Amino acid sequence: MTTPVTINAESAVKAQFPGLAGGWHYLDTAASAQKPQAVIEATVRAMGADYATVHRGVYARSAEMTLAFEAARRRVAEFLGGRENEIVFTRGATEAINLVAQTWGVQNLKAGDRILLSTLEHHSNIVPWQLLRDRTGVAIDICPLTEDGRIDLAAAERILTPAHKLVAFAHVSNVLGSVLHVEHAAGLAHAVGAKLLVDGCQAAPRIALDVAAMDCDFYVFSAHKLYGPTGIGALWARGEILDAMPPWQGGGAMIDRVMFEKTTFAPAPQRFEAGTPAIIEAIGFAAAVDWLEAVGLDTAERHERRLTARLREELARRNDVTLFGPADSAGIVSFALDGIHPHDLGTILDEEGVAIRAGHHCAQPLMDHLGVPATARASFGLYNDESDIAALLKGIERARRIFG
Ligand code: PMP
Repeated sequence: MTTPVTINAESAVKAQFPGLAGGWHYLDTAASAQKPQAVIEATVRAMGADYATVHRGVYARSAEMTLAFEAARRRVAEFLGGRENEIVFTRGATEAINLVAQTWGVQNLKAGDRILLSTLEHHSNIVPWQLLRDRTGVAIDICPLTEDGRIDLAAAERILTPAHKLVAFAHVSNVLGSVLHVEHAAGLAHAVGAKLLVDGCQAAPRIALDVAAMDCDFYVFSAHKLYGPTGIGALWARGEILDAMPPWQGGGAMIDRVMFEKTTFAPAPQRFEAGTPAIIEAIGFAAAVDWLEAVGLDTAERHERRLTARLREELARRNDVTLFGPADSAGIVSFALDGIHPHDLGTILDEEGVAIRAGHHCAQPLMDHLGVPATARASFGLYNDESDIAALLKGIERARRIFG
């Protein structure tokens, strides 16, 4: 069902995205990716001709939809190098992290234990742990960044103690584009007996993943940043950890047997999926994985790194630009233009048909660390090309002329 994709001609990729029709220069993929026709068609079919609910298989259509839904889970598991019973469908990365905090966290952490986060985390990888702290009394430590904006693993090694039960780091920073060496972080966490949770939101669309090789314990990401639908994402957790986690939300589909005196629960992952699941979204999620793998993760990484390097090079030539993040950042370029607020720049660029993100990017502690209220952020997807960079640079020139 997947349309084979070639990226030899970038315009051919762009043409598969109806959301980009009319020459829009979309540079906000880190917030959410546009959707290729193949994903749109898969969701339309799932919502139309193929639609039925799942797990109520007394009629053929529902049985077929159940197979398709579980095939989607298998597809996501393959994509990560995990097993299908290790994949929990969630509403997205945010819900996946909250799920881990409120199940594994509540079951395993107590006052006196510590969690290590980093300065560059997205609010979704901070606030759930603060809620857990308020509930259990665990302490939160923050790993600093290197000068160029990576999580400083040498510092992490110094901070970690046997009191640390969890390390939760972003694989790729949504602001700086810096890439974590996950295997190294896993080694440090495991050396003190802590688990490693990786927030893979920005890595999953652009870096080939293998949870076994990375040796992490939890990996979370959202489908909508990976050319798939909103409203769905995945939690991967190592099988033995997931099996031991208590249920979270109660309701239909997560049970084994319900009696008023006592309820027994379904095994993982169903135990964590109460209620009718996001069926259409799961089918779209699998279609997005198919599409991305048909293009190739290596191609994605190479393509976006090339555009990132090119844009950084162009911006570095200007004497009115501050660039944030390391030179080898992946797909994401955050910058500030002297004397022009990122929101004003974003508005002017919008008039030029260029969409960037301006703001704190749900990373206020990182903004505090950088000493800015906000940054302008251009982020790339597989559909971007040099023309998008040219349009951005032209828009920046116009902003300069307007603001003097
Ligand atoms: N972590 C990172 C690094 C992100 O970029 C995002 C999305 N901006 C999230 C977590 C949260 O993802 P979602 O809103 O899809 O749950």
